[in-house]
Amino acid sequence: MFRAILISKNESGQQVAVTHVDEADLPPGDVTIAVEYSTLNYKDGLAITGRSPVVRKFPMVPGIDLAGTVTHSEHADWKVGDHVVLNGWGVGEGHWGGLAQRARLRGDWLVPLPTAFTARQAMAIGTAGYTASLCVEALVAHGVTPEQGEVLVTGASGGVGSVAIALLAKAGFKVVAATGKAAEHDYLKQLGAGAVIDRAELSAPGKPLQKERWAAVVDSVGSHTLANACAQTRYGGAVAACGLAQGMDFPASVMPFILRGVSLLGVDSVMAPKKPRLAAWARLARDLDPFKLDVIATEIPLAGAVAAASDLMEGKVRGRIVVNVNQ
Ligand code: NDP
Repeated sequence: MFRAILISKNESGQQVAVTHVDEADLPPGDVTIAVEYSTLNYKDGLAITGRSPVVRKFPMVPGIDLAGTVTHSEHADWKVGDHVVLNGWGVGEGHWGGLAQRARLRGDWLVPLPTAFTARQAMAIGTAGYTASLCVEALVAHGVTPEQGEVLVTGASGGVGSVAIALLAKAGFKVVAATGKAAEHDYLKQLGAGAVIDRAELSAPGKPLQKERWAAVVDSVGSHTLANACAQTRYGGAVAACGLAQGMDFPASVMPFILRGVSLLGVDSVMAPKKPRLAAWARLARDLDPFKLDVIATEIPLAGAVAAASDLMEGKVRGRIVVNVNQ
């Protein structure tokens, strides 16, 4: 038996329990893992609170991320004792996930735990941080360089935003953080933001073309914020869009794209192929100061994940939550 968070559903709605599960009930897969740490992402918040139908099968163990050690493998790439990381692939949505002491998965989904990080640090990064890294990779591949000017990061105090700031600053970019949390300016500067603006400057409907300001943008917020960010991006600049914390709408015009050659780069972490995954983790291993992870992450025990999921949905959480599944 192992401990897990289990989401079930009946006529009266969704129930969430911290419970004991039989190892024989684990889903099919060619690699079994003793999970050490998991984490809470925005999507895990949606799954645990039931705020959005991200869970596609019940009962479900949530947790789109995990880090742990292989205990059994029938996959050529992995052997007992290997330290591995899992991000996405629909785990925690359609396949039992990481908020448990055991997981059984497809070996093709795993990447090696970078030697730069412990399992806990990898989960302090989690899908949010790995997505931030995919965004930075996309901007750099587009040709954005520090000489071109300031880079805006929206949703700055969140998981994606926090790691994006740290990575961009390390790569030499001048970062401007947009946040709704006035109390977190010092935190954002500690991560590497050169300046902080109030997110209210971006969150209301704006003109289709505005004063050119940003060489590039990492946006995890969507809606009017993304529309305004595009309208303020400089000629030839790029906007990496990965999130919808404000909303999934995109109330914009084509003007920035057709008059200023601005590029909108969509970023998905869930089904990203192995090559960009490994590149994103390599950037994190090279550029993310492990001491910044201590500033970004707060650790909670498995049972604490249920209450923390509600806090996350209410926007009360700063940075990243790491879940010690063995506590
Ligand atoms: P968090 O909850 O950690 O952070 C989101 C941040 O967005 C908040 O901290 C807040 O930052 C800001 N925010 C919240 N509500 C609003 C609002 N109404 N208007 C403007 N800003 C708001 O989430 P993550 O960083 O983990 O994820 C961010 C988004 O990215 C989510 O939508 C998530 O689903 C998406 N995502 C997408 C992935 C992909 O593969 N494309 C992968 C990972 C995440 P502040 O208080 O500083 O303003």
